[in-house]
Amino acid sequence: VLSTSTTDREVLAEWDKKHFLHPTSSIKQQQEEGPALIFTEGKGIYLKDTEGKEYIDGLSSLWNVNIGHGREELGKVSMEQMAKLGFSSTFATFSHEPAIQLAAKIAEITPEGLDTVFFTSGGSESNDTAFKLVRHYWKLKGLPDKKKIVSRRKSYHGVAMGATSATGLKPFRDFTTSLAPDFYYVDSTPEAFKAFIEAEGAETIAAFISEPIQGTGGVHLPPQDYFKEIKAICEEHNILFIADEVITGFGRTGTFFGVEQFGIVPDLMSVAKGITSGYAALGGVIISREIHNDLIELSDGLFMHGYTYSGHPTACAVALKNIEIIEEEDLVNNSKLMGEEMLQGFKWLQQEHEIIGEVRGLGLMGAIEIVKDRKTNERFADPLAPKIVAESLKRGLIHRGVIYEGADTLIFAPPLTIDKYEINKMINILNEAIGAVK
Ligand code: PLP
Repeated sequence: VLSTSTTDREVLAEWDKKHFLHPTSSIKQQQEEGPALIFTEGKGIYLKDTEGKEYIDGLSSLWNVNIGHGREELGKVSMEQMAKLGFSSTFATFSHEPAIQLAAKIAEITPEGLDTVFFTSGGSESNDTAFKLVRHYWKLKGLPDKKKIVSRRKSYHGVAMGATSATGLKPFRDFTTSLAPDFYYVDSTPEAFKAFIEAEGAETIAAFISEPIQGTGGVHLPPQDYFKEIKAICEEHNILFIADEVITGFGRTGTFFGVEQFGIVPDLMSVAKGITSGYAALGGVIISREIHNDLIELSDGLFMHGYTYSGHPTACAVALKNIEIIEEEDLVNNSKLMGEEMLQGFKWLQQEHEIIGEVRGLGLMGAIEIVKDRKTNERFADPLAPKIVAESLKRGLIHRGVIYEGADTLIFAPPLTIDKYEINKMINILNEAIGAVK
């Protein structure tokens, strides 16, 4: 009989190699090196591994652990909810308390007019739901040819079939051979979108989707007034605007939702990650009152879309507690203030190191560009980001390097609970790590 409770690191590493196919990974590296770190616990901004070494979680794991690690309150609500009602269906006319309470809370905190939520288990499911939903909507409106989905180059929307098909970052699409039809990518200018509409015809376009700040692509802020112009173009041409707030939602950028930074209200909003700070798997698509009203009026049959775990009771209870913590601890404001500190830190690093080009950020989402020549923005032939990430790791800081599509970028998104002292610690480690590869 297998002793699955073993904590022997060598045994675990062996099992990891043999039995565990890791998401978004290098299979060869895993086979050669085994797992680099096996985490066992976390507290605040720190993760601890099997060797007892502590690491600053500089990306909030996957941009999601917004309230930080080790929150016993979430363990407590999970236990209580599971013991009370582990699962019941929300299909058709059945419902349960945590899903209803969370739906109402989401309507309260999202921008005015976004009032109704469809629950999923994560960001990819949310985006696939959004794509099906907008097409369903236009079908009900008597416009079944409005089905094209337009996204931006460098975007990331997940790995379900629709979500991958909408993802502008080519390496994710190239993983497989055949994608969903009717997905298109445009450059990040209003002119590019206008030209696309001109060429294809607005009567064929269902929706435009964008992250308020592109995360996986390398923390790219939109050009000035970009979203206001895009939203106006969408309205003019009867095209729905989907904001992918999977990373930017729940305080990450210094406002509750990323779109608030840019003065627009989307028609649909995809959320996940920070909705539970990663303590349970949950996502959702939030739709405008107008879309909901139209669906109510025009629906002619069943709404044939639903996941078993649409509104899982424990995930909903965890989300409610998580949002309560974000509000009570004023974490949205902390994200804004500490984001400013982090950016100041990046600017100081820029003065210290010639190889740092542009630095940028909004709230606790930030990036540092590595360049060979600041004036021309020329990159190193062999990107330095992976080496810097490795040096940071040795010194107890986890963050990510982006090297797809010619980038050489360091990206950061620490938990929203981070304080000044911890930001300084992060910057000091980075200073040493960058110094070590020069
Ligand atoms: N959309 C965005 C903007 C994301 O960053 C991600 C994940 O990183 C997703 C969608 C996909 O979410 P999930 O991994 O929960 O399916």
